[in-house]
Amino acid sequence: MFSAPGDGYSRFPQACFAGIKKTDKETDKEDELRKRMKKTGDSLIEEDRKPGYNPDDWGVCIKGNGGKEGMLERCDFRQARDLMMEHVGPVGMQKAPLSACAGRILARAVTAQEDVPPFDRSPYDGYAFRAKDVEAASLQDPVTLRIVDYIAAGDVPHTGITAGTAAHLMTGAPVPEGADAVLPFEKTRFTDEEVTISSPVKPGSNVVRAGEDIRKGMTLCGAGVRIDAGLAGTLAGQGIFEPYVYKKPLVGVISTGSEILEEGETPAPGRIYNSNRYALQTACELAGCRSIYIGTVIDETDTIAQAIASALKTCDAVILSGGVSVGDFDCTPAAMEKAGVEILAHGLALKPGMAGAYGIFDDRKSDPSGGQGDGAIPVFGLSGNPAACMTAFYAVVLPVLRKMMGFAPEDCIPAKLRVRLSGDYSRKNQSARLLRGKVDLTAVVQEMQPAAGQGNQMLSTLAGSNAFAEIPAGTTVQAGETVDAFLMGDI
Ligand code: AMP
Ligand code: MG
Repeated sequence: MFSAPGDGYSRFPQACFAGIKKTDKETDKEDELRKRMKKTGDSLIEEDRKPGYNPDDWGVCIKGNGGKEGMLERCDFRQARDLMMEHVGPVGMQKAPLSACAGRILARAVTAQEDVPPFDRSPYDGYAFRAKDVEAASLQDPVTLRIVDYIAAGDVPHTGITAGTAAHLMTGAPVPEGADAVLPFEKTRFTDEEVTISSPVKPGSNVVRAGEDIRKGMTLCGAGVRIDAGLAGTLAGQGIFEPYVYKKPLVGVISTGSEILEEGETPAPGRIYNSNRYALQTACELAGCRSIYIGTVIDETDTIAQAIASALKTCDAVILSGGVSVGDFDCTPAAMEKAGVEILAHGLALKPGMAGAYGIFDDRKSDPSGGQGDGAIPVFGLSGNPAACMTAFYAVVLPVLRKMMGFAPEDCIPAKLRVRLSGDYSRKNQSARLLRGKVDLTAVVQEMQPAAGQGNQMLSTLAGSNAFAEIPAGTTVQAGETVDAFLMGDI
């Protein structure tokens, strides 16, 4: 377990950073890229260089022998998402007490075992009688019926209803044989012995028919549906108190970065608190997964590889943050490979979230009987920049986790919508950009207010956001224009 620094992991001595001059970001990045080119023999294609860009905005595409055959480089985020989704499956199913099933995903379709309601019943406290008996009733000429039964909810009728008689019955009580209408007591005049009705009532009025809600034999719900309040109640109505649900994937979260401070550690110059761990674990748990913090590791390939290997032993999915760019201390992709992860996609054509390594660990290859669940273990190496990390989480990771959770295929991809932006985004990008912001779901035309700061390090603007609007590569948008968007979670 790597749960805290000090669990055998020494941090890089700060002196290690002295070799990188951080005075001029642009020059610095070029230097880093050149160093990497020297190391890997990659060719460097510069698409766009602007002064003042940040680490995730290089606009540089590395091609050549740096990439493995078949590995996607700087692909559309949907391609990386779909490729990762192809390799994973639900992590298994279990019976769980219905009382603990809120938000769980139903693993088996449910067929109705009985009609709901199981018998014709009264929706009111009132009187049951034959509609025919009161067809001529009027204010001037009301009809009086003799009360022959008293039926509480939970009782069975003690006698049938014949001409000229009525039963006094409560809400939920069975409508007796012979009666075909009910009137609430407020619409009658009554004594203990008699009830008087002064208008005609249609046959069938106020009788809830057996099977009106659910008919025996009908499919109540398919597999892959989230158990919400309505479904929980519906299952209980069928006497199903231990449904089959999919197991919750366990997601291991690893933070990389020698600068990362843990809870309880004393702040020091150059060090920053670990935001990504908490953002990622919260997002995983809100999505319906379980999460475990594996720990924070220094920027060193072997150390990161060890942490990944440890996570792979127990987790169904692994998410790392940091160290996926091309800096000297960006070791996560190499560490992933060292731990046996096959990288399927390296980098995305996405801002924020360009840096990233997406791979799978397929233990079924070495042990066909083994493995955890119905697919490989996805390993996501996300940018350390908090907003880039979380953008990639919602764009790529969440749909993959949803497939592992057992969501129906059409529900794995976040719900799409069109939104009218109520703010400009005037910067042209070489890659698609996902603007985070808040969609007003109550508006007739969905309005989205992009958050004020869209920088890849600005996590605070993700708080309260519920959607991403997509600004296609090479375009800008003005307030009032309509663009595609997707929700971060459920509505
Ligand atoms: P990296 O992806 O490692 O190049 O990191 C990019 C930026 O994100 C750097 O400024 C890091 O210090 C910062 N960063 C990395 N990991 C975290 C984290 N867990 N929480 C907050 N910031 C981080
Ligand atoms: Mg780093």
